[in-house]
Amino acid sequence: MNFDVAIVGAGIVGAACAAGLSREGLSVALIDPNGIATGSTAAGMGHIVVMDDSDAQFALTDYSQKLWNDLAAELPQNSEYEHCGTIWVATDEEEMAEVRRKQAFYADRGLPCEILDERSLREAEPNLREGLAGGLRVKNDSVVYQLCATKYLAEKAMANGTKFIDAKAVGFSAEGVKLSRGETILCDRIVNAAGVSAPDLSAELSVVKRKGHLVITDRYPGFVSHQLIELGYLRSAHGKDADSVAFNVQPRSTGQILLGSSRQFGVDNTDIDPALVRSMTSRAFEYMPKLRELSAVRTWTGFRPATPDKLPYIGCIGDTNVFAAAGHEGLGITTSLGTAELIVDEILGRSSAIDREPYRPSRKV
Ligand SMILES: Cc1cc2nc3c(=O)[nH]c(=O)nc-3n(C[C@H](O)[C@H](O)[C@H](O)COP(=O)(O)OP(=O)(O)OC[C@H]3O[C@@H](n4cnc5c(N)ncnc54)[C@H](O)[C@@H]3O)c2cc1C
Repeated sequence: MNFDVAIVGAGIVGAACAAGLSREGLSVALIDPNGIATGSTAAGMGHIVVMDDSDAQFALTDYSQKLWNDLAAELPQNSEYEHCGTIWVATDEEEMAEVRRKQAFYADRGLPCEILDERSLREAEPNLREGLAGGLRVKNDSVVYQLCATKYLAEKAMANGTKFIDAKAVGFSAEGVKLSRGETILCDRIVNAAGVSAPDLSAELSVVKRKGHLVITDRYPGFVSHQLIELGYLRSAHGKDADSVAFNVQPRSTGQILLGSSRQFGVDNTDIDPALVRSMTSRAFEYMPKLRELSAVRTWTGFRPATPDKLPYIGCIGDTNVFAAAGHEGLGITTSLGTAELIVDEILGRSSAIDREPYRPSRKV
């Protein structure tokens, strides 16, 4: 069989691309030796968040969030999609200035958000410590249990005829995708959605691993209502330091609390680093002292697929039949749906809801 498109990688990005392409009537092969949602997707936090690091990042996250909201009605209950909103927490006046800047940025672009003073922050989240300066509540942000959402997208693709191929890709050619078992999956176009492994197949993509740790607690319904992130998170997320931690907690619909986050460059192993976990939890206790009283049930690590300019690679690579959909770093759950639509539009030769240029693999990084 000759497929219209073969997608390498069945993480959330590959699954979303498969759902989008098969919806349009294209024949699709989805290739992964590890099953669905086992890579970075299995390790992530599932925060659907609009970010303002750059106009391009805002455009993709905002567009994707709208797509998530559209999808929400059909997502199965086990995807745990919830509109909890985000509160960016400010500790002092300097960070309140950043709250005001962020609020103006979002308000200019029509995104509903609200500045909280010290009292309204405590009312919104009584378990935060006293004495914090305030925060910014971004109402539209949400959380999703990304494993089940990815499985849903893959099943949707398969219901549209997508064939799942349990195999490792070892190379691309004009004919299609070469598999380690020797066979070639014949196709007209290839989508490289192999996450942190994308450069193994497309050397021109500059994607590196950025390791993260997460901790999940036992069930404490009502302990926290919003995704809470310190404004210093931006320093952690965008800094080039080898190791950084930031206060970042997420309420799960099970009553569990997901606690992050750490970022490390240059660490290739999946081991849990107890010192880093201590530093991450200590940071969280500074903001939410009562977290100390809760029991943690599991800690794990994962790799974010990071690019030098913090934007993913989306689109055709040079003059080839290969399209990149990789390098989404800490925003790949959020931006998976937007990425898929940009890939679908480019393959079908039509314009997109947002400008595709900033994500072109050929851009200078
Ligand atoms: C700790 C942590 C917290 C995060 N929190 C959030 C968050 O709150 N919100 C958010 O939006 N994002 C978050 N992320 C980021 C998000 O998880 C990733 O950006 C996203 O999962 C990337 O998806 P992907 O499909 O590109 O990659 P992956 O999920 O890694 O999928 C790639 C797939 O390709 C397959 N593959 C690799 N090589 C080959 C090959 N040669 N042949 C065939 N298949 C291959 C792999 O088996 C894998 O299944 C977080 C990440 C981490 C680590």
